Amino acid sequence: MAYCFECGEPLVTGVPPGEDRKRQYCPACGYVHYLNPRILVSCIVHDGERVLWVRRGQDPQKNLWAMPAGFMENDETLQQAAVRELEEETGLRIPATDLDLVVLSSLAFINEVYVVFEARHEAVELQPVVPETLEVRFLAEAEAPWDELAYPYTEPYMRRCYQRLRSGEKEMLLGAFSHNIQQLKNV
Ligand SMILES: [Zn+2]
Repeated sequence: MAYCFECGEPLVTGVPPGEDRKRQYCPACGYVHYLNPRILVSCIVHDGERVLWVRRGQDPQKNLWAMPAGFMENDETLQQAAVRELEEETGLRIPATDLDLVVLSSLAFINEVYVVFEARHEAVELQPVVPETLEVRFLAEAEAPWDELAYPYTEPYMRRCYQRLRSGEKEMLLGAFSHNIQQLKNV
């Protein structure tokens, strides 16, 4: 049971007056509790064909590998969010001005929007700085931990990112993920 943020009365679930889908709302004052997608921001840090990966130190998906990523906070820009998450997870600090927007994608099945930047940085040795990360490594496509992905449905996307780096492609990808997507496609 949740209560109204405006008047404290119990919320009900149903189609609010004037709306066309079920939501939680307050019959007493008319407040509607809208739930909207979260914005997940990531940065592909690369040196040639090697890309920075992190091995997660906490659940969900502990011990598995992913790109550094996290959710945008209020009061920050997309670039600030990407820089902050990167530094938190890898210890690597990259100026926001070095980031190029490369992917804008819908993850409708988990109600998220995925915004990905790219930045070039020398493949230095990095040590995890927080318990949330167990390992931080620059890996080429052939070395990448494809059998230990935190989110296996992202494999086609990550392979696409490697292909992009090899080809020098500059065009931004606008796409959508689904559980069984084979490649990022324009939608
Ligand atoms: Zn209310």
